Amino acid sequence: MAKRPRIVVVGSANVDLTTFSEQFPKPGETIFGQKFDLGFGGKGANQAVAARLCGADVFMVARVGDDLFGPSTIKNFERLGIDATHVRQVAGVSSGVAPIFVEPSGQNRIIVVKGANDLLKPADVDAAADILKSADCIVLQFEIPLETVYYTIKFARRHGIRCILNPAPAQAIDIKSVAELDYFIPNESEAETISGVPVRNVEDAKQCAEKLLGGRIRRVLITLGAKGSLLAGEDGMHYVPAFHMKSVDTTGAGDAFIGSFATFLAEGMPEIVATKRANLYAGLSTLGVGTQKSFYDRVRFNDEWLAITK
Ligand code: ADP
Repeated sequence: MAKRPRIVVVGSANVDLTTFSEQFPKPGETIFGQKFDLGFGGKGANQAVAARLCGADVFMVARVGDDLFGPSTIKNFERLGIDATHVRQVAGVSSGVAPIFVEPSGQNRIIVVKGANDLLKPADVDAAADILKSADCIVLQFEIPLETVYYTIKFARRHGIRCILNPAPAQAIDIKSVAELDYFIPNESEAETISGVPVRNVEDAKQCAEKLLGGRIRRVLITLGAKGSLLAGEDGMHYVPAFHMKSVDTTGAGDAFIGSFATFLAEGMPEIVATKRANLYAGLSTLGVGTQKSFYDRVRFNDEWLAITK
């Protein structure tokens, strides 16, 4: 049996508050909406859940707020078997929340309030040092302070631990500040924001990856939505096509990709195989509505993999 990987996510946890409404209130007006959905989200938490469902032992390092959502976020991690020892509640601030308003056309408007996520500091990484040192892979995103992201990359390098950064949501950073990374995994728009190279197709992605590799990252993996992904490193570029899906909601596909890729890689799969499987895992997540709710567990994933590769 494959080795059971240990994955540590240093990242965000949010609560998504989605209101479905036929119209939007004018200033000063109160109206009735049609439906409401409350779900656990945040890129860090989503990626942790994907890794856990793929079979990894997962450890979350995060901050939640001093409100109803704080303890329920911790309970949700525990219910899924994710170690939440280093998910701490901060007094006097709210949890990270994302009020989402959806029109009948599917068009959405989102306001993210970072809340406690903004208070995840390098000292929290130090407090979790023993867990981080025992990891097969550390996974980071951009929904926590950049200072903490950079600190964790240096920590990973010092201790020889594989480190993946998903630079989402996009921020215009100097690529040299993440030079010591093992894997840099943006989607098309994040890759464009950081490199300045527009990414509309696989050829563009190759040019973009070349520029990003010039920043001395070991590997760049650009996800290309329904087109799949491009893996680039010193040894060349490999385009890995996506699987054809009858997608209903692609929200969270990137998170499904990162969490599953980290797990497959830590199980010892060759990179291209891990990329191909992550394409399938992420693709399957687009068949259902929502983020964490649409992620497959390993048994269902393995069945699909066998059926597709038979
Ligand atoms: P993000 O959700 O961060 O924008 P992408 O849209 O690039 O990320 O999607 C991540 C991965 O999910 C892709 O590389 C691909 O493997 C898979 N994927 C996304 N959309 C589809 C789709 N419509 N059909 C099949 N696979 C998809």
